[in-house]
Amino acid sequence: MRTPPHHSSAIEAWNKFVAEPPAHVTFVGDFDEDFIARYVSYAGARSLSASAANGTNHTMPVGQHLRNLSKFKTCRKKDAGVFCQGTVINGRRSKKTMGVMSLIVLDCDKINDINEVVEAAKRAGIAVAVITTHTHYSTTTDVEWKHFETWRGRSGTDVTLDEATEFFRQRGKHMPGVVDSISLAERARGTDGWVIRVTHAPVHKCRVVAFLKEPMDFNAYEDLDEGNEAWACAIMGFAAKLGIEIDESCTDSSRAFYSPSHPSGTNDHQVIYVAGDLVDFHEVEAAGRVLKGDAKSPSAPAKAPVKAPQRKQPAQAKAQAQTGEKTKLVHATRLWAKKFAMRFLVTDALAAYSPNLLTSAALGGKGRHIERCPYCERHSNTAGDSSTYVCNAIADPRSGFKIQCMHASCKDTDRLEFLQRLIDNGSLPAEALADPRFLLEDANAELIDKIAAEFQQPTNQGKYAYRIY
Ligand SMILES: [Zn+2]
Repeated sequence: MRTPPHHSSAIEAWNKFVAEPPAHVTFVGDFDEDFIARYVSYAGARSLSASAANGTNHTMPVGQHLRNLSKFKTCRKKDAGVFCQGTVINGRRSKKTMGVMSLIVLDCDKINDINEVVEAAKRAGIAVAVITTHTHYSTTTDVEWKHFETWRGRSGTDVTLDEATEFFRQRGKHMPGVVDSISLAERARGTDGWVIRVTHAPVHKCRVVAFLKEPMDFNAYEDLDEGNEAWACAIMGFAAKLGIEIDESCTDSSRAFYSPSHPSGTNDHQVIYVAGDLVDFHEVEAAGRVLKGDAKSPSAPAKAPVKAPQRKQPAQAKAQAQTGEKTKLVHATRLWAKKFAMRFLVTDALAAYSPNLLTSAALGGKGRHIERCPYCERHSNTAGDSSTYVCNAIADPRSGFKIQCMHASCKDTDRLEFLQRLIDNGSLPAEALADPRFLLEDANAELIDKIAAEFQQPTNQGKYAYRIY
């Protein structure tokens, strides 16, 4: 028998991280395993300046994304890479090219203490990562000199403490306590030209990263403005749920967030992981609409997604199975699903039979993106966009193989339906399902033989075509 491949499961990696966290990491509560092992997709780039309009999509377990958020870079400027809240289409990051949104992120610039944010997430029962930003604990703030001149309505190189304090008060971006603590104001050389620089008590600044229960899919909105409006409302509703004051710019769906970093010579950075629930997009969107005084009820995506086959309707599946000459519901295939979904190495099988279908981008564990969703004709944008992925089963009784697509029109599609589609469209032969090379070793050998024998009985068309779902 073959040796099972090495599996680095998201859960194992997370448990190891929790057992030996870096010094700047704190946990509040325990994250459950389903949460850690679920997948998220989003675009990232090495730097904002190098990629004003670009991003590369990634899919990974939540646990891996959370761990990545603990990896701070030390740098003078804060551009240590960026990430978005969802995928981008054709590598372009703009409000018109967002794809599937998995994350929901808020910047908290007006707080007294990051623990306020932690307490708010605990009260709301929402799972978040609270991450300090580059300017956290800084005692100076620079604002372009020309903004100061515009504000006071005259040019000149002089500045008084009172004038500076009033400027910062009216600007409204700091907590009153911080403005009151301004002790020094000067005209100085900033990184990009002249600035007004004030010295004050340390400011607290952080970012909150949470995860959507069901991804929000821009492809499901006929009108992109409606999708962006829905997104903006959801951000406002989520901020309100946590009681966090946000800036208008935070509601942009294509906003890029800097990856964690801190200035060299400082050691005030931290990440606090608060366990809790996923964010219900429709709930926070509805709350945001109420705040905006928008009478419109939460937007159902205008374009009704093609109805995906429902899960767990054996009668329907059976009826489908009995229609069409190339289908045949075999008892063994149901047994297969029951016994072998936990053991099937779908990535390995596709790599053997349809390597072109897999993209080069690897996911965490033994997962890969697939070039095009097997049901991509249902998407409103039918081009491949890395929103679909496959993952081998791992040696963990709770985690079978995965085939999943992040598009709204595919969200109710069972992995077995995807697998059936891959068989029907010729990407995988049915025999692959009973091939010991693609099953974890401890699968019951007798059962494999029995199922393999059934798979080898031709239908009356002489084809191996079986319904597994
Ligand atoms: Zn799909």
